[in-house]
Amino acid sequence: MRLLLVEDDRMIGEGVQKGLRQDGFSVDWVQDGRSAELALGAESYDCMLLDLGLPNRDGIEVLRSLRARHDDLPVVVVTARDAVAERIKGLDTGADDYVVKPFDLDELAARVRAVVRRREGRAEPVIEHLGLKLNPATHEASFEGKPLALSAREFAVLEALTARPGAILSRAQLEERLYGWGEEVESNAVEVFIHGLRKKLGTDFIRTVRGVGYMVPRSR
Ligand code: CA
Repeated sequence: MRLLLVEDDRMIGEGVQKGLRQDGFSVDWVQDGRSAELALGAESYDCMLLDLGLPNRDGIEVLRSLRARHDDLPVVVVTARDAVAERIKGLDTGADDYVVKPFDLDELAARVRAVVRRREGRAEPVIEHLGLKLNPATHEASFEGKPLALSAREFAVLEALTARPGAILSRAQLEERLYGWGEEVESNAVEVFIHGLRKKLGTDFIRTVRGVGYMVPRSR
């Protein structure tokens, strides 16, 4: 899952980026409103964590113009402890949820998973499809009732493909979900993960759509 973190406080930004990366998220971090808009225009994200007090363009403006473009990207706003009015404004401008500083990283990760899940139209926390079960909170996986050992990146590939069965994801789209800015991407990394997953799930669970990308079919 790829996140855009918009936070001008260096210590918080570094801590959140590091913590969420350890939790298996790919995180791009920008420190002002203008850079957030550039990143939103250039990349595709699964969720944005948005501090509201920002230099250049404040968080509310970033959020307002995102929603004005009819972009339904899930947004969690980050506000100061006693800023009730700010939280209300954030939610009324189109945020999906909020956290209050100082927040707990595990709680933040859980809120991100919840808003992304709701956008995908799922109420259940576990993804179940064609005998596969994935729990994004614990990274536990099973296939046809047996536990499945997956690396963090194999899990991320499979989560991206099974969250929207039938949707084709290109190699570049999968790479975007796996790696944040500044992380080294091996040129054939996605192929290597797909190959590894096919060894564990059988060759036809993930289909190759020639010249386009990969998909998990809606049904067998
Ligand atoms: Ca701030």
